[in-house]
Amino acid sequence: MFNLNLMNKLNIRTFTKDELESFFINIKEKKFRASQVFNWVWKNNVDDFDKMNNIPVSLRSKLDNLFYFSKTIISSKQISTDQTIKLGFKLSDGFICEGVLIPSKKRITACISSQVGCSLSCAFCATGKLKRLRNISAEEIYDQVYHIKKISEKKLKKPLTNIVYMGMGEPLLNYKNVIRSIQFITSKEGLAISPKRITVSTSGIVKMIHKLADDSVKFNLALSLHAANNEKRSQIMPINSSNNLESLKSSLQYFNKKTNRIITLEYIIFKDFNDSIDDAKELIVFAKDLKCKINIIEYNNVEGLDYNKTSVEKTNQFKLYLEKKGFIVNVRKSRGEDIDAACGQLANKA
Ligand code: SF4
Repeated sequence: MFNLNLMNKLNIRTFTKDELESFFINIKEKKFRASQVFNWVWKNNVDDFDKMNNIPVSLRSKLDNLFYFSKTIISSKQISTDQTIKLGFKLSDGFICEGVLIPSKKRITACISSQVGCSLSCAFCATGKLKRLRNISAEEIYDQVYHIKKISEKKLKKPLTNIVYMGMGEPLLNYKNVIRSIQFITSKEGLAISPKRITVSTSGIVKMIHKLADDSVKFNLALSLHAANNEKRSQIMPINSSNNLESLKSSLQYFNKKTNRIITLEYIIFKDFNDSIDDAKELIVFAKDLKCKINIIEYNNVEGLDYNKTSVEKTNQFKLYLEKKGFIVNVRKSRGEDIDAACGQLANKA
């Protein structure tokens, strides 16, 4: 279950606290030592047993023979004119994924990746043009948040307030690692960030939405809807052919019922594709029996793709129509467009 490196050592960062405690008991060490080591690894981000000065030297050397520390490093950094920062993260095996720090008046958001590439080939998305190479492990997801949080505190002098799993990949196709990463991020030994500040965004994997509900998760769920009729949605999101709107809606109702949490419907608005009042009417039919709010997201043109940003007027008309029908609607402005950091633009181009 735990990965071994070439020296036959175990990656200590793949252990939960409970697992580390059991491991320590198995190697005839005290349970509280595991807890001390866990604190060093996660709270203090230490990657050298010699720096763990409350651990006896003999135990430090024993641990050094058993464990190694995986590392995610920042391999590139681009800053947009709007202060959005895009980071390339080099994972321990050399693969690269991207994360984005998005500052706004009210919040500082980290947008992070869950897979290297993506298998779902959404027609409007640059990541969808890359092959899915592998899932990102829990500790690698955690590292993205850790680095972005540090940059926010150091450069912007502000704490990180929100985390969205909206970068590269489909989080629910990497379920185990995503859930485990959230356990580390929210734990008091980790970053102690409230699950209410975390949103996992899915293209709509019905079976896994049911699983989230059954697991009674405490974080927020967003659905990338983008079109509320099956024909249009399948045109831009092939996943809709096997997870259609009817089955999606019933899974979201199940999620509402089991968790009592409001879902966010994300709707990227494209010129002459889904920006008419008829499209808004279809969206209302989909949303009407859900506890939800709607985020309309400005599209960012992606080189080589046939979709375009709609006008501000059309976006406002669309928003107003929904609001008149009683929905809570926000418009999310495009951020970091000049550095290809905006929604749908992540493609490891830096
Ligand atoms: S939008 Fe999300 S699910 Fe679709 S291809 Fe891009 S990364 Fe994958």
